[in-house]
Amino acid sequence: MDTAYFKELLLERKRQILKNLHATISEMESLKEVEVNDDGDYASLCTDNMIEHAIQSQQLKELEEIEYALKKIEKGEYGICEMCGEPIKPLRLKIKPYAKYCIVCREIIEKEPK
Ligand SMILES: [Zn+2]
Repeated sequence: MDTAYFKELLLERKRQILKNLHATISEMESLKEVEVNDDGDYASLCTDNMIEHAIQSQQLKELEEIEYALKKIEKGEYGICEMCGEPIKPLRLKIKPYAKYCIVCREIIEKEPK
């Protein structure tokens, strides 16, 4: 398992997310300064903010997963499925470097009713 490679992938993704979040926050700050007179304008502004918020919380969640994966690298537990204990395929980790489960377990979890 080439953890150095995946660590770099995770750090790169983390930098990207942080950059995105900073951009979104400063954009929202500048929006606040815009005077809203029209009801229609206000409504569209609200929808935009909700979308921004959804994107932001999704990115924050991803950020958490990345931090978690980085900790697992330090502990030497990276790339091991948390459910069955089998190694996760490197091909899967390349697509999703913070994956916690192998493909088989992931499918089981997704099929479970919430
Ligand atoms: Zn598994």
